[in-house]
Amino acid sequence: MARFIFVTGGVVSSLGKGLASASLASLLQHHGYKVRIRKLDPYLNVDPGTMSPYQHGEVYVTDDGAETDLDLGHYERFTGVVSKKSDNITSGKVYQKILIRERKGEYLGATVQVIPHVTNEIKEFISNDISEEDFIICEIGGTIGDIESLPFIEAIRQFHNDNGHSNSLFMHVTLVPFIASSGELKTKPTQHSVKELRSLGIQPNILLCRSDREIPKGERKKIGLFCNVKEDCVIQAINAETIYEVPINFQKEGLDKRVLEYFNLESKNEIDLKMWSQVSKHVLKPDGKVEIGVVGKYTGLADAYKSLNEALSHGGIFNNVRVELNWIESEELNKDNILSKLSNNNGILVPGGFGERGAEGKILAIEYARKHNIPYFGICFGMQLAVIEMARNLLGMNDATSSEFSDCSNSVVGLMTEWTTNNNTTEIRSNESDLGGTMRLGSYKAKLKKGSKIYNIYNNEFINERHRHRYEVNSKYAEEFEKKGVIFSGYSPDGLLPEIVELKNHPWFIGVQYHPELKSKPFDPHPLFKSFINASKKYRP
Ligand code: GLN
Repeated sequence: MARFIFVTGGVVSSLGKGLASASLASLLQHHGYKVRIRKLDPYLNVDPGTMSPYQHGEVYVTDDGAETDLDLGHYERFTGVVSKKSDNITSGKVYQKILIRERKGEYLGATVQVIPHVTNEIKEFISNDISEEDFIICEIGGTIGDIESLPFIEAIRQFHNDNGHSNSLFMHVTLVPFIASSGELKTKPTQHSVKELRSLGIQPNILLCRSDREIPKGERKKIGLFCNVKEDCVIQAINAETIYEVPINFQKEGLDKRVLEYFNLESKNEIDLKMWSQVSKHVLKPDGKVEIGVVGKYTGLADAYKSLNEALSHGGIFNNVRVELNWIESEELNKDNILSKLSNNNGILVPGGFGERGAEGKILAIEYARKHNIPYFGICFGMQLAVIEMARNLLGMNDATSSEFSDCSNSVVGLMTEWTTNNNTTEIRSNESDLGGTMRLGSYKAKLKKGSKIYNIYNNEFINERHRHRYEVNSKYAEEFEKKGVIFSGYSPDGLLPEIVELKNHPWFIGVQYHPELKSKPFDPHPLFKSFINASKKYRP
């Protein structure tokens, strides 16, 4: 029978509820339990697919094709459990479902209300699609006090009542700030946040207090007293040097013990966190560094490329080097400054992206990497632009472009209007289709050419990788390209859609139509990132 852990946040946002949930899940796995983590997002978008990654962070794509919150990436990276569509819900999705039902008259004349209709939908989501899991950890997005999250808080309150108090636990993540002028840690924000939570009918069982320093026992006792929480359940979460230390720190503070005690469960294993200490050691004490120039559009929000940052760092962990990223604004790149902006890098990467703005700068960077034998890794848009660059400069097609930028009849990269999914169904799209949820999304199989570089990297003929794109490289020019040493070394199994492009006479030049970064894990780095960082380590600028 599954037990439920609800994680809420108080005082301020960005306290790392996602990481806390993922780290707790990892600890429970080490104790021998099966876990699943879910995210409940109070915003009104149906999913984050249409939201700007520069505002809300990256859109994480699951195997089954859902566009979800980036926290699901943390969950997968920390637990290895593959996330599903059924692991992320938003207010938008709840209301969409209810309103469609209402229009069909399915409520049989009833007045449709937040309680019980919206809260019932949320409760249904929480307990839906569970098989053998021992624990379901549900993270509620936002901060206590937000108007939007009220139905979610009410739903988990009801859930706790419906399912028996001993089957669900409330963990509240708060902040205990240090006030420099008085030299004191302050507990008042935590007290207020818990007061707010209790006014909504929820008494937290565990408080996870984020702090930049040790919280003395006396302060923890005080928090426990004012918040009606057992003293040993007031747990400090001191800033860690690397995120991979968080599970180790939580274990030291006894978080896993308190959770098991609450549910009256024993550990099934002698807990051993060597996996996390080894990864932390590689991150904190690497042997040398590699600099990668990532050429894209930036607004300074690091979370916009969360999985990419992580996957590159996993490549570094494997090669025992620190990977330093130089973010290069593609709009500012031109022929005159390219040398000064790119020449100190050991490798160049163009990540996924949308729209024409900055595309020419990326194309210049790709040309530079190709001509100077600098390791180049193109991901999704980075692959499409590499094909455009080579069509222009190797095949002499001066007007080569993508139909994403302009209407052209003979595009090298064109809108995909019909394709076969992994389940053999046909998807059809047109220029008029909705923007949300209508790309080639989720896991698709690809067949690799034996003897190619990509084949040797994966050491496999068939791979499954996650996609998120609307346009597709035109295979029409494959033969012409091949004469110039440009190989389409992987295709969709029906042989229609190029999945990988690589250069024969270049140390490492690979573009992939999919997003390999979404499947990389610190304890199981993705083969492409291992190989790219290894090649970059060998390249001396
Ligand atoms: N804009 C491109 C497309 O839609 C690439 C998308 C991406 O990089 N994820 O096909």
